[in-house]
Amino acid sequence: MPIPFVEPFRIKVVEPIRQTTRQERVQILQDAHHNLFGVPAEDVFIDLLTDSGTNAMSDRQWSAMMQGDEAYAGARSFGRFEQAVQEIMGFPHVLPTHQGRGAEGVLFQTLVQAGQSVPNNRHFDTTQANLLALGAHPVDLAVDAASDPQVQLPFKGNMDLDKLARFIETTGVENIPLGMLTITNNSAAGQPVSMENIRQVSALYREHHIPFFMDACRFAENAWFIQQREPGYEERSVREIALEMLSYADGCTMSAKKDAIVNIGGFLACRDETLKLRFSEKLIVREGFPTYGGLAGRDLEAIAVGLHEGTDEAYLAYRESHTRYLADVLAQAGLAVYRPTGGHAVYVDAAQTLPHIPPEQFPGVALANALYVEGGVRTVEIGSLMFSSEDPATGAFIPAPNELVRFAIPRRVYTRSHLDYVGEAAAALAAKAEQIRGLKITWAPELLKHFIARLDWVA
Ligand SMILES: *Cc1c(COP(=O)(O)O)cnc(C)c1O
Repeated sequence: MPIPFVEPFRIKVVEPIRQTTRQERVQILQDAHHNLFGVPAEDVFIDLLTDSGTNAMSDRQWSAMMQGDEAYAGARSFGRFEQAVQEIMGFPHVLPTHQGRGAEGVLFQTLVQAGQSVPNNRHFDTTQANLLALGAHPVDLAVDAASDPQVQLPFKGNMDLDKLARFIETTGVENIPLGMLTITNNSAAGQPVSMENIRQVSALYREHHIPFFMDACRFAENAWFIQQREPGYEERSVREIALEMLSYADGCTMSAKKDAIVNIGGFLACRDETLKLRFSEKLIVREGFPTYGGLAGRDLEAIAVGLHEGTDEAYLAYRESHTRYLADVLAQAGLAVYRPTGGHAVYVDAAQTLPHIPPEQFPGVALANALYVEGGVRTVEIGSLMFSSEDPATGAFIPAPNELVRFAIPRRVYTRSHLDYVGEAAAALAAKAEQIRGLKITWAPELLKHFIARLDWVA
């Protein structure tokens, strides 16, 4: 039997993980109010909550960290970081931020007024919350296929161009301070966006003089998918593709905790110097001086090396195969897996796996809870707990477009046998799927409720 993939690294440092008993896990979940964000990481055996900041850094990144220059202004580490962003992403100006949402905050506080609208293929939760906090409207205009867990298309992360054109026309350019595009589309199962779509979105924004910012957290994985799937790009390198993709934008927000393979950090990049100065004003108040932006010099060093490693093709080939392998394992276990697999995670359709639980009882949360009980595996719901809303007129429950559970894969952390173990836990869950109950919210905040909401089983 051909082996599905082999890790292009060997292990130099290990971190022990501990298995709990089923009885302990039931109690731990109860103590966490059935919200997996409330479970101590020590009590998780395989942690697939997120791929954000959970990456294993390389020996080169760790040794670069020792060379961190911690000067307040003009640190050498900033120079290395800036050079890496210029070389890999092609933006001349870059401002470090503590993470991606810091970059979003600075961008929106500079350009967006209350009452205005920002289009995107699909806003990530922090992007959406940053706009809502300013009284602005995040508008999602992804292609319909993004919400279809089964249709086999290469670029289900795309923006729907007709919807975008209509949106610009009806909303009016004066009410659209900037336009965005998220690559890959995290809130749509990590699906990639094609180069053709990026080009067309860019042309449409340009035609209307709308500044275009990419949410570039997973730009390397998106470039990899373009090389693998888009005619005309088979022979182009991932680095060339990344530069072309980003060349269509005026700037980007970035969470370095994703494709820069670090544990903390982010940045806001742009082409226009005047804009950079306007961003800097906000940055100094909220994040830090423009050459450190809330990060240590050593963090900037790790990002600089990580941008190179995250765009390495042997690494990206492994990354995609690793993710696809988990999808196959979960499908074999009997879960309804979203296809095709995206870059950073496998998404399971909880509505289809647990058809007896209605959206208002959060089938994704129920599935994630059950998986934790079965095997100490932590995943996250991306469904109605995260994205449902209320009808402003009637207060009626409006469910999320999909009830998904995300199995996010930390970069370079888990081996193939770890993924096989997750498959075993999933099979145990699938065998008793019809006994799994739904949940109700007992307390939740207004914004980003999924992080700290408290839940309990319905009777
Ligand atoms: C993670 C993420 C963000 C926010 O980044 P943080 O570093 O978590 O603040 C924004 N957009 C997308 C698509 C993301 O995946």
